[in-house]
Amino acid sequence: MLELIDIKKSFEDKAVIQGVDLSVRKGEVVVIVGPSGSGKSTLLRMMNVLEYPTSGDIKLEGASILFKESRGKRIPHTQKELSRFRAEVGMVFQGFHLFAHKTVLENLIEGPVQVRKANRDEAIALAEQLLQKVGLADKRDQYPDSLSGGQQQRVAIARALAMKPRLLLFDEPTSALDPELVGEVLVVMKSLALEGMTMVVVTHEMGFAREVGDRILFVDNGTILFDAPPEEFFQEQHQHERIRRFLKSLS
Ligand code: ATP
Ligand code: MG
Repeated sequence: MLELIDIKKSFEDKAVIQGVDLSVRKGEVVVIVGPSGSGKSTLLRMMNVLEYPTSGDIKLEGASILFKESRGKRIPHTQKELSRFRAEVGMVFQGFHLFAHKTVLENLIEGPVQVRKANRDEAIALAEQLLQKVGLADKRDQYPDSLSGGQQQRVAIARALAMKPRLLLFDEPTSALDPELVGEVLVVMKSLALEGMTMVVVTHEMGFAREVGDRILFVDNGTILFDAPPEEFFQEQHQHERIRRFLKSLS
C-alpha cells in the first residue's frame, strides 16, 4: 500500500528523520508512538507529502512520487502528481482544521466536489451516509464552532473519508480533547479499523494501540527503534530501556 524507502528529512542542518524504511500493508493499523520531538509528525506528514523528504523514496501502490531539484530544494515533480497522492491519502489533525465558515455538510462535500470532481448530489448522499456513521447526522447544517471538540473531530474524520482515501493518517487525533470526549473519537477510529481501513495513527492512547494496532512503531530521535505487534511491545521483560522509560512517563 504505502512504502517509505530510506527516507531522510532535515530542517536546515538538523537531521530530523534519519533513514526510515517502512511498509504499510492494506488493511493494517500502524500505531506510532514516541517522545515529543522524536519526529512522529514529520514522518506522518511525509506520508501524504505535506513535508518533502530530503532523500529517499515514497511509494503508493508501487508508484513512486517523483521529486525534482528546484533552487537547491527537493520538491514534487508536478502539482498534479502531488494532488493525486494527497487525494488518496487522508489526514486527520490534532486541531480538527475544519472550514469554520462552512456547515458540517459543506465541509464534507468541498473536497469531493472541488478536487475529485464528484457530482454534487452524490457527494451530498455520501456525506449524509458518513455523518450517520460517525453519529452526527443531526448536525449536518450546523457550523463547526457550535460543536464539541469530539464532534468536530468526528466531522473531520467523516470529511477525510468523503475523499474515499486508500489510507488514513491521524496525528494525535485526541490530544486536544477534554478527557471525556476522547472515547467517542476512538470508537469511530476503531470501527474504521474493523471495517478494514488502512490507518497510520500517532497517539499516546496506549489502550487504543494495544487493542486496535496491528503493529506499534516506537520512534526515537528520527529512527524507528522498534516495530512489532502490541503484545511484544507491551511485554515488559522484552522492552528496551528507552521504551520502558517512555511508557513510564505516560502513566
Ligand atoms: P510531538 O510529540 O511534540 O508532536 P513529534 O514527534 O511529532 O513531537 P516533530 O514535530 O516531527 O516531532 O518534530 C521533530 C523535530 O523536528 C523537532 O526537533 C522539531 O523541532 C523539528 N521540526 C519540525 N518541524 C519543523 C520545521 N518546520 N522547521 C524546523 N524544525 C522542525
Ligand atoms: Mg507531533
